Amino acid sequence: MCGIVGYIGKQQAYPILIKGLQRLEYRGYDSAGIALINNDKLNVYKAKGKVAELIQFAEQKDIQGTIGIAHTRWATHGEPNQVNAHPHYSQSEELAIIHNGIIENYAVLKEGLKEQGYTFSSETDTEVLIQLIEYVKKTNKVDLSTAVQLALNQVVGAYAIAVIEKSEPDVIVAARKGSPLVVGIGEDEYFLASDATPIIEFTDKVVYIGEEEIVTLRRGMEIKIVTISNIEKTPEINKLEMTLSQLEKGGYPHFMIKEIFEQPKTLSDSMRGRVNVEENNITLSGFIDNKEKFLNAKRIIITACGTSWHAGLIGKYAIEEFARIPVEVEYSSEFRYRKPVIHKDDIVIPISQSGETADTLAAVELAKSQGAFIFGICNVVGASIPRNTDSGCYTHAGPEIGVASTKAFTAQVTVLTMLALIIGKEKGTLSEEQYLKITHQLGLIPEKINHILKQNDSIAQFAKTFTYAQNFIYLGRGYNFPVALEGALKLKEISYIHAEGYPAAEMKHGPIALITQEMPVVVIAPNVGMYEKVVSNIQEIKARKGKIISIVTEGDIVVANLSDYSISIPETEECLVPLLAAIPLQLMAYHIAVVKGCDVDQPRNLAKSVTVE
Ligand code: GLU
Repeated sequence: MCGIVGYIGKQQAYPILIKGLQRLEYRGYDSAGIALINNDKLNVYKAKGKVAELIQFAEQKDIQGTIGIAHTRWATHGEPNQVNAHPHYSQSEELAIIHNGIIENYAVLKEGLKEQGYTFSSETDTEVLIQLIEYVKKTNKVDLSTAVQLALNQVVGAYAIAVIEKSEPDVIVAARKGSPLVVGIGEDEYFLASDATPIIEFTDKVVYIGEEEIVTLRRGMEIKIVTISNIEKTPEINKLEMTLSQLEKGGYPHFMIKEIFEQPKTLSDSMRGRVNVEENNITLSGFIDNKEKFLNAKRIIITACGTSWHAGLIGKYAIEEFARIPVEVEYSSEFRYRKPVIHKDDIVIPISQSGETADTLAAVELAKSQGAFIFGICNVVGASIPRNTDSGCYTHAGPEIGVASTKAFTAQVTVLTMLALIIGKEKGTLSEEQYLKITHQLGLIPEKINHILKQNDSIAQFAKTFTYAQNFIYLGRGYNFPVALEGALKLKEISYIHAEGYPAAEMKHGPIALITQEMPVVVIAPNVGMYEKVVSNIQEIKARKGKIISIVTEGDIVVANLSDYSISIPETEECLVPLLAAIPLQLMAYHIAVVKGCDVDQPRNLAKSVTVE
């Protein structure tokens, strides 16, 4: 959450920073702002709302300058208005800061600064930090990077910051703890951003700034990294794999629908080099390198948030079925703060699309400190979680820009399924025959998704019927219970319709009281697993006049006839149904939100890459 971007070099900073903000807008869109140094002036422009508002506001102003920083905000402290927008000036207006994260001890620091005569114009924690930096700088008579270092030693919390100083137009000082920060190395220029998306257009050389590191970027190509405790570090240059076209909408009206349609490809990418379709064999290097650990594991703990948590639940079903290892699926935010029992022979699997989810990162630290083996499942290469794990497996779904996760979810489920199958095969808890059969079917999933996507237009049509609804219920059993949770979450996130997911058999223990003829009930009812039982659950809803929308296996007329609307998916193995059933639910949520006129890619109050706890 919150996107930060910076530039120092020979080009005009403004267009680079604005484009960078647009790329990072998925991280927050409460306000946007920019600070530029030009002709001994430090100009700060900011506006409530999206980057487009900032452009309108800044257009007539002095937007010259070859050094600058910019920010797109997801408010944590103080309402989303212009005053609270970043960048924030220091008291003397000599310094300006942008910040992603939370300064937890801001109240105490603020009191101390007030006693020193500092006044505050915003309600943010960020303004406290820039005043502190200024205070430290003046009292100790030190340069900007030393002042940042001394100030950060007093700070409790999480941050990625960038600071510039009016009288030092050749320097940007940035630092991170808990929030991501990447430096791009161009020719005679440096870029700075929360992730690589604003950088890729200019250079593929990046340095990922580590925890508690402060980086000083000086015009004339000097990059210096020291830790908060003053240890010098050598910058390690990495090459970016991402391409620019992955960051564009490519003719689709929204990133979300583009990403839904990308799934046949992203799942093929997830399986590339891992699932051998000819031989029906799976190879995961993260597994091979740590085979004994997996084979001897007494327990697996999956820790995740939101959509990744739902993928984790599907992973639990698969790992327990095939590998016979008990699996617990934890919300990272709960896990990190209670006192969980973690053993040395536990395997902890954090799942995070961004690889930056603050709560999941903290859960990783906790599990590590107790000696568990950590195997990460993340999408963004080089992010904090993969860099803090013992081993892992990238999902390779490509950049996901839509705030509501779609392709990352199916890629996570694919990776978990591959892992479950391979452990099961190696342990001997899954028969060779089953292993070959399921692996073969897994290889066919991308093509089957292509087939489901052909129903997009008819789903768009019937979605119109449901824009009246205030509530939705999603039902599934077995592997499809987590899919029901995920379907409900998608609808909530982007259409603002209240939706709940339940295991279908739980209806009679309470939720069935909600059924009226107004209530749409989405039932995932493929002809595998507990099919007959789900059919009975549908009958119970039908008897109470609920509106049934069903996901059925192609050719199933029993459920289709009981339903008001039905969407068919091709036949597959039970454990693979989630990969197919998720697609129509994503499309349905998307089309309902579009008809309701909602901002699909940037839904209200949300942001992607949740770097605050
Ligand atoms: N705490 C800062 C604010 O509210 C930054 C928020 C964030 O990074 O999400 O302005």
